[in-house]
Parts: sequence; C-alpha cells; structure tokens
Amino acid sequence: MIRGSRVAVVGGSIAGCAAAAAAHRGGAEEVTVYERTAGQLAERGVGLAMHGGRYEELAAAGFMDAAMPSVRMTHRTWYVRDDTAASPLGRSLGVMPFPFLTYSWGSLWRELRARVPESVEFRTGSAVKGLRLTSRGVELDGERYDLVVGADGYRSLVRTIACPDTAPEYSGYLAWRGAYPESDLPDAHLWPADECAYVVFDGGHIVIYRIPDDAGGHHVNWVFYTAPPTGHVPPADGGRTLTTALADRLAEITSHRLPPFFAALIEATPAGDRFVQPLYDVTAPQYATDRLALVGDAATVARPHTGAGAVKALQDATALQSALRNADSPAEAFAAYDALRAPVGRTMVELGRSLGRALVQETPDWSGMGDGELDAFWRRADGSGAFGGRELKRA
Ligand SMILES: Cc1cc2nc3c(=O)[nH]c(=O)nc-3n(C[C@H](O)[C@H](O)[C@H](O)COP(=O)(O)OP(=O)(O)OC[C@H]3O[C@@H](n4cnc5c(N)ncnc54)[C@H](O)[C@@H]3O)c2cc1C
Repeated sequence: MIRGSRVAVVGGSIAGCAAAAAAHRGGAEEVTVYERTAGQLAERGVGLAMHGGRYEELAAAGFMDAAMPSVRMTHRTWYVRDDTAASPLGRSLGVMPFPFLTYSWGSLWRELRARVPESVEFRTGSAVKGLRLTSRGVELDGERYDLVVGADGYRSLVRTIACPDTAPEYSGYLAWRGAYPESDLPDAHLWPADECAYVVFDGGHIVIYRIPDDAGGHHVNWVFYTAPPTGHVPPADGGRTLTTALADRLAEITSHRLPPFFAALIEATPAGDRFVQPLYDVTAPQYATDRLALVGDAATVARPHTGAGAVKALQDATALQSALRNADSPAEAFAAYDALRAPVGRTMVELGRSLGRALVQETPDWSGMGDGELDAFWRRADGSGAFGGRELKRA
C-alpha cells in the first residue's frame, strides 16, 4: 500500500496516462504527470493493432473498453509480387488467423487520457530536466516525490538514473509509415475490410490494415519496413522527416517490388502524410529500483513486428497498479513489479529481433513459398509464441 505517497509520472503518452491512473488506483496521495509536449498528443500517431486476447485482459483491468473506436481483424494474408498472378493483389502465400483490433493512435490516447482521474495534475509543455535520488525520496526539477515512474519513451531520462548503462541499440532499418482516408484508396473493394495484409519482398515487408477515423469510417494504415540507403544515419533527435533519399528508396521499392494494388495503395498517400521512424531495441536490466519504476518504451522497446508495444505498456501499468495495491511498502511493490515485468520485456525484445531477422534482415526466397512453407517459416520466427503480447499475469 502506498497511501500518502507523492508520485511523479514522467511522460504523458500511452504508458504515462495508464501509469498515472495506475498510481492513483494503487493508493497514491498525489500524482503529477509531466509531459514535455504542449497541448494534445492526439495528432501524433497513426495506427496500432492489439491482440483480442490481450484486449480482454486490459478491458478487465479497466484500461480498455468496447466504446473505444476500433476495427476488428480476422485474418492476415501474405502477398508477394508475381507478374503472372491474375489478381492485382499479387500471389497469396498463405492465410493465418489474425484476431486483432486496430486503433487510431490519437483516439486511443484520448481515451486513456480520459481515464486519468481529475485529481491528477497533468502538466503539458513540462519537460523534466533532471532528477536525483536523495535520502528523502526523488528530487525532480526542484520538487520532492516519494516515487517516480518513467513513462518517457525510448530515450527515457528516468532510465538514465535507474539503469545508467542501458542505451537504445539501432536495428539498422526503418519503418516508413502513412495513413489516409479509405475513400482515397483505388479499388478498395478488392481488399477485405477484416484482412491485415503482409506484403513481402526481398529485404522487407509492409503491414497494412484499416483503422477507425473520427467520423465512423476507416483510414488505410501502412508500415513499411526495410533498410535505408547505405550510409544513412538516423538523426539523433529521432526526427521523422522523409528526406529525398528516403522518399526515393520508398518509391523505388514500391514501383519495382510490390503487387500493383499495394503499390497504388502506397502511392495514394499524400507526401505530407508519410514519415519515417528508425527502429531500436532497448532492454533495461530491471524495471524498478526502490523509488524509480519504468513503464512502456522507457523500460523495453521491442520492434513493432511483435504487434505488442501498446499492450506491453498497458500491461506494465496494470501490473504496477496491483503491485502498489498489494505490497506493504513502495519498495516491496516495485520489487514485485520488476519480478513480474522484466522477464516479459526481455521476451518481447528477443521476439522483435527474431521477427526482424526473418522479415527484414534475412528474408527467405518468398517466390518459392506456399502455405506449408509459410507456416513453418512463421513458427521458426515466432519461436516464443509471444506475437501480439504475452498473456497478462497478475502481481
Ligand atoms: C512503427 C511502429 C509501429 C508500431 N505499431 C504498434 C502496434 O501495431 N501495436 C502496438 O501495440 N504497438 C505498436 N507500436 C509501439 C507503441 O507505439 C509503443 O510501444 C507504445 O505507444 C508505448 O509508448 P510509451 O508511452 O511508452 O512511449 P512514447 O509514446 O514514446 O511516450 C513517451 C512520452 O514521454 C514524453 N517525454 C519524453 N521525455 C520527457 C521528459 N524529459 N519530460 C517530460 N516528458 C517527456 C514524450 O513527449 C512522450 O509523450 C509501434 C511502434 C512503432 C515505432
């Protein structure tokens, strides 16, 4: 039980909103969120997918609910370009179940933000500059807190104090991303609304699915994974701008290696709605010390092939909440939280690496593959069976 404690949460994105609600529900006296972005974060992202089983667990924990706009997927079809294929979608290598719900990042964030209780002070435009441990707690930009939760993303400041030797490791490749209204997609009727498409090529793949828009319709959301041109170095500030070289790389692969339907789908994206994200691996050796806890990407970053980054962040918050409720002291709560979540984080990072090798860095000869080979390929790549996130275990 942490009654009477003052808790600061650094970061007010998906993990931060959930952690603030968790600290409040876990008994904290006062919770303050520091988010460096001024105003709403809702316009920041595009789409994400969440496994239906993980959704059920998070709904039971009070972080998700059916009123959140989503699109239900049933299957994923793997497509490859084949110039002899009759269909403009190319040749299907196989179909797998895909029991996922898809969300627009912005509406998911708004829903989580709405779950942060009124009593929590949510300071936007507030970048935390420093924190240090003292005999009385944690001093954060001149204010004293009993506990600090780092929900400050892959370049976490809180992690530099909790785990000073941990740094993000660049994967060597990027995600190009885009989203736009389905009404702008040529021949949209050719592609089923409940299908997630995995379009594979030599050296990468694209994941494409529909997400809800804010008006009861759909957007087309795509993520395109491959290596950048030789010599490309990701900007240190995590900049997302598509340079001419990166735009040319996308255009070259789109026109020469994708089936016509999917090439048209990428090309229909307005230039201003395309951006790029370098992919990193982060594995903090521990999720918590006596007074500092890490949640979401601050603790571990698993490559998005795992389809579980938001799930992992919300599971962290769920575990933190029950650890805070059930333990006799904050230190005991943080130890229980660490024991529960650090192994899951490590599993997900390893899964991301394995899927990255299979789907980007060491792709097989797709042209010779059929249904049986595809199933064997996937079983090897998803060795731990954790695709979509590990089942949530309670603290
Ligand atoms: C290409 C791509 C595709 C993805 N697809 C999926 C998917 O399909 N499914 C899925 O579940 N997940 C997906 N993810 C992952 C998912 O988006 C993240 O794992 C998840 O949103 C967790 O985010 P977070 O809140 O931990 O971190 P962030 O969203 O990075 O938030 C960190 C916050 O901290 C703030 N901050 C940082 N430093 C400070 C400071 N010093 N002071 C104050 N504030 C600070 C930042 O402004 C930011 O708002 C994907 C990720 C990528 C890159």
